[in-house]
Amino acid sequence: MENAVIIRFGEVFLKKGNRAQFMKQLRRNLRDSLKRIGQVEGVTLTSYHGRYEISREEDQPFDEAELARLVDAVTSTFGIVSASPAIKTELEYDAIKEAVVTLADREIEERRVGTFKIDASRAFKRFPMTSPELGRQLGSAVIEKHPLPVRMKNPDLTVGVEIHEHGAYVHARRVPAPGGLPVGSSGKAVLLLSGGIDSPVAGWMMAKRGCFLRPIHFHSYPYTSKRSVEKVKALAQTLSRWTGPLRMTSISITPIQEYLRESIPNDKLVLFYRRSMVRLASRLAAEVHAKALITGESLGQVASQTMENMAVVGQAATLPIFQPLVGMDKMETVALARKIGTYETSIEPHDDCCSLFLPPHPETKGKVDRILAMEEELADLARLEDEAWEGREDFIVGAP
Ligand code: ATP
Ligand code: MG
Repeated sequence: MENAVIIRFGEVFLKKGNRAQFMKQLRRNLRDSLKRIGQVEGVTLTSYHGRYEISREEDQPFDEAELARLVDAVTSTFGIVSASPAIKTELEYDAIKEAVVTLADREIEERRVGTFKIDASRAFKRFPMTSPELGRQLGSAVIEKHPLPVRMKNPDLTVGVEIHEHGAYVHARRVPAPGGLPVGSSGKAVLLLSGGIDSPVAGWMMAKRGCFLRPIHFHSYPYTSKRSVEKVKALAQTLSRWTGPLRMTSISITPIQEYLRESIPNDKLVLFYRRSMVRLASRLAAEVHAKALITGESLGQVASQTMENMAVVGQAATLPIFQPLVGMDKMETVALARKIGTYETSIEPHDDCCSLFLPPHPETKGKVDRILAMEEELADLARLEDEAWEGREDFIVGAP
């Protein structure tokens, strides 16, 4: 029955200074999301009064599958706060009433509705009825068929009626979206993406702050399996639902790890692996003009995530490292991973390149000076990193 989707955006709207740029990015991203779901014919995207609208002619309502796809695409676009499938009618009381009753009928049939209200608003003040009048009359029309009590606070069903100069919109559902800033509006960042639970969530959080993500993954084939890389691609694929297609770089660090294993005491290996990763990620960042790195550390979660060790690893980067999970508990991260759809893939078994050759008691209080001094003795490290870099591979993940 719906022939429109109303799209509300939040923060973007508040950003006075760069508003125009944000809006342009949001519009572009919305268009791209719509293009990706494809095959919804004759749809137009317009904006009015601080919102967007996707619509089709009144006599061509979306079918259920189309509507579900549209709402899903819109509500996985950062910058959007909610979306409502709506019936768009002419500015005429009887047409509005019919839409209200139709939607109320359907909702009451489909779910438990004990109380309801009409939430009418008028952006077009020349409409002959005021919002309270609309609310009362439309409410009575619903009650005639369904004798339900009206409840203003937290009713089970809210039928929204919005009067604009070019038409009226009636809706009965509000689907929440993640908000944030449109992807691309704050620049590009290289995401160090492992097969674990944390880094995909970290990437998602920074994409929500408008970062355009460029994932990089390090593997240790043949010590780690080919499947591990496939798993990381699958994670990037899930992220791309939210970000649009991603170009991902994959680098083998096997020779670096073999070399370090012979040169460095076991308890400090992870620190050296990580410094090499961060240097290679910084190199990618320079090449693609990214302005930050993103990792999934959470303070104190594992031995390598102490303040001391984060300082040792961070020192190898030429750009700021964003660690959006640094203050989160594992439970919170897991909840978010479930919400964004990466959890199921993350918990599949995989071999982690950093747990290779590791002792039971790794260093927890690495000292920058000491690590730097040790690194200087590693005559072959720079060459091995160059070779790793030269052997990198790129993949495009997600539908264009
Ligand atoms: P995750 O769940 O993201 O794997 P973790 O809790 O296992 O994180 P660590 O293994 O200490 O934590 O890794 C910390 C961060 O370093 C990861 O979140 C990720 O950003 C980065 N990282 C670790 N291993 C790799 C890898 N093989 N490729 C790319 N980045 C990696
Ligand atoms: Mg990990």
